[in-house]
Amino acid sequence: MSEPASFLAQLGVHRVPVPVPFPEAGGPANVYVIEEDGGGLALFDAGIGTREGREALLAGFRALGRSLGEVRRIFVSHGHIDHYGYARAAQEESGAPVYAHPRDHDKLLGRDRSGPRLQLYAAYLERLGAPRDLLEHVRVHWQDVRRMARPLEQVEPIGEGTRLRFARFSAEVLHLPGHTPGLVCLWAKDAGVLFSDDHLLERVSPNPLLDLEGRPEPIHRALSEYVQSARRARELPARLIAPGHGEPFTGHAEVIDRLLSFYEKRQARILELLADGPQTPAQLAPRVFPHARPSQLYLTLSEVMGNLEVLEDRGNVRREERNGRIVFLRQGPA
Ligand SMILES: [Zn+2]
Ligand SMILES: [Zn+2]
Repeated sequence: MSEPASFLAQLGVHRVPVPVPFPEAGGPANVYVIEEDGGGLALFDAGIGTREGREALLAGFRALGRSLGEVRRIFVSHGHIDHYGYARAAQEESGAPVYAHPRDHDKLLGRDRSGPRLQLYAAYLERLGAPRDLLEHVRVHWQDVRRMARPLEQVEPIGEGTRLRFARFSAEVLHLPGHTPGLVCLWAKDAGVLFSDDHLLERVSPNPLLDLEGRPEPIHRALSEYVQSARRARELPARLIAPGHGEPFTGHAEVIDRLLSFYEKRQARILELLADGPQTPAQLAPRVFPHARPSQLYLTLSEVMGNLEVLEDRGNVRREERNGRIVFLRQGPA
């Protein structure tokens, strides 16, 4: 294959990286500017609504000799601020509709961060055994989110199997839940390109986060679903992965194999720690991640819970509710 950038350019796709102010993201977020059939442009992801994000996006458009006013459709891969944060502004500039999977609509619409929803998180985190100040981290994080991403007023649905026609290629929408419940990728089958956003990054694991989606108990089993979605992506005959952060890369099967074996080691470690007796996810988190900072507890707790759910699916552990706390116990042959 020619250089990834020129290969993408032949498809009428231009990657514009925009800076993101949190290191866990894995570097600048990519906005893919795609030439539309019949003129105009589409966006796959819209960057972040910070001043630096806006400036980088506008500079990218200028370098292409194009303007935001030419945008006809805005596709958002998933409901994280580094991917939809600038969508509202881009929409105001262009009048373009914004599309995303329905399971992430509440995030784009700002409905996922209301007072009542914070109370649901408070109750659930307490059941996981988390200290009360974790909720304060969540609350502060939600305020940051509002600062860097203005909510949209309307979002149109896309989902598994939606066909998208662009000027020089067609793509199919794949719903690959895990990193968020409504994450989608674009699969340009004829070109062999997977626009993978945060489902698949070359060097960063995808942080499947706890997500209540407005319920007292999550139905989204982030890591279990992620693993299934990763297996699905592994089977695609992709020549090039155009990710949500970092440079396009090849060899996605090896990247996925590495990631899955990394999670399996972590699951083995958790089983080992559970040999000491039943524990809450919050008791396990600092033992699994002894070097994590207190501000990372939400991430580490999500990661531990995700791995526990995978172990639960396999019948290696089970949960019990004891005095209002969810504890996990080893089961089956040791
Ligand atoms: Zn991201
Ligand atoms: Zn993300």
